[in-house]
Amino acid sequence: MKSAAEHKGCRASAKTGQVSCGSQAGQGDLPTEIWEKVKNHPCYSEEAHHHYARMHVAVAPACNIQCNYCNRKYDCANESRPGVVSEKLTPEQAVRKVLAVATAIPHMTVLGIAGPGDPLANPAKTFKTFELIAEAAPDIKLCLSTNGLALPDHIDTIARSKIDHVTITINMIDPEIGAKIYPWIFFNHKRYTGMDAARILTDRQLQGLEMLGERGILCKVNSVMIPNINDRHLVEVNKAVKSRGAFLHNIMPLISAPEHGTVFGLNGQRGPTAWELKALQDACEGETKMMRHCRQCRADAVGLLGEDRSAEFTTDQVMKMDVQYDLDMRKAYQSRVERERAAKIAAGQKELAECAGEMSAITLLVAVATKGSGLINEHFGHAKEFQVYELSTSGAKFVGHRRVDVYCQGGYGEEDRLSAIMGGIHDCHAVFVSKIGGCPKSKLIKAGIEPVDQFAHEFIEKSAIAWFKSYLDKVKRGEIQHVQRGDAAIRQGSRISAA
Ligand code: SF4
Repeated sequence: MKSAAEHKGCRASAKTGQVSCGSQAGQGDLPTEIWEKVKNHPCYSEEAHHHYARMHVAVAPACNIQCNYCNRKYDCANESRPGVVSEKLTPEQAVRKVLAVATAIPHMTVLGIAGPGDPLANPAKTFKTFELIAEAAPDIKLCLSTNGLALPDHIDTIARSKIDHVTITINMIDPEIGAKIYPWIFFNHKRYTGMDAARILTDRQLQGLEMLGERGILCKVNSVMIPNINDRHLVEVNKAVKSRGAFLHNIMPLISAPEHGTVFGLNGQRGPTAWELKALQDACEGETKMMRHCRQCRADAVGLLGEDRSAEFTTDQVMKMDVQYDLDMRKAYQSRVERERAAKIAAGQKELAECAGEMSAITLLVAVATKGSGLINEHFGHAKEFQVYELSTSGAKFVGHRRVDVYCQGGYGEEDRLSAIMGGIHDCHAVFVSKIGGCPKSKLIKAGIEPVDQFAHEFIEKSAIAWFKSYLDKVKRGEIQHVQRGDAAIRQGSRISAA
């Protein structure tokens, strides 16, 4: 059996630059035992994230380190970022919630514990929860997300608990940089600060990563990109985690709005722009697959990535629900999802085959409004985010998303919001929607972004490739001139409600 560490993550094809997991459709060169772990995991497979949901249960309130980008909040229903939850749960409440969600959302395949503190700073609650869920809902994959400080102490328990996906947040391997990110850590009953704290943290993180690889546990590394602090350094971090067997590297933008009350938010530390983030992800994408579809979820998120249904599953509501965990029903539903998925992949490949032999150096971005299933099925005015694809003669590659405030406010559109939405997709040549009103349509055209509604309710990749072919034809005929577009803003506010 090939372990995750031996596999060294996903490899890129020299010919196309496309990687062998993530947005690509099939098993590729992945060993079967790894493919089984990732094929319906929405975080480990970009392609799966259009179809499968995840949930987090907030059973781990305490934390053993302080990060300058983190401010844990409880009873908070309207922000979407790590560390925020509406309510804390006991392990027993968490299991009831998991079963309720598994009944209502049969395509929920993954349960993660990601806080709001650090799961391994709350080991009793964390492992009790996993134990109860493994017994009650054996088809659900178990995930753990940690800062890594306590990871080496719990590796054997993790392996015994059937947790086969672990995420470690590693923002640096240089203590000097670490001292700018972490004011303190609490380790072996003692508080450490400055370089001492960062040195212990990085040693423990890298040791934990190696130990996971030795046990064949898939590991994703999250890194927060903080301009002028660790942005260039993350290339070194990428090399370090790759050489220690990380399966996936997820470089995420810093979220640092002042209203979040974090140190970075209050001292004006900016996050990266869309171009800065993509350039770093591109620079790191070699032998390790980059995750680009992370939504930086709440610690109690429920649903597809990009939607949040946590408000439907409060403890009060869950207690009133008729919970009937039915494995056969879940399997039957997921078989239907697999058929839809196969149809989508086949349609994209067929469209791409028609591009065979097409030569062009043009590469551009398009934005897509979608509610899931890999379809263009969202109205421009209702979109809470746009997915971004890079189009070239190699195909359509998912490269990110842009979260926005919903434009349509019950019959009228908000002008300020339209400007912010256009700023968020400013680097895109077109926006694919199921429908769009006259006013935003004309403003988008004026801004050089083509609104495309002719592919409503069709598959994203297939439609994007078809549109790209016609775009290239127009350029060839001299009807349009291809121009590069400018950078785009990554939204720092993080409300999840439409209001
Ligand atoms: S924070 Fe990122 S990795 Fe974690 S569940 Fe959300 S999308 Fe997946």
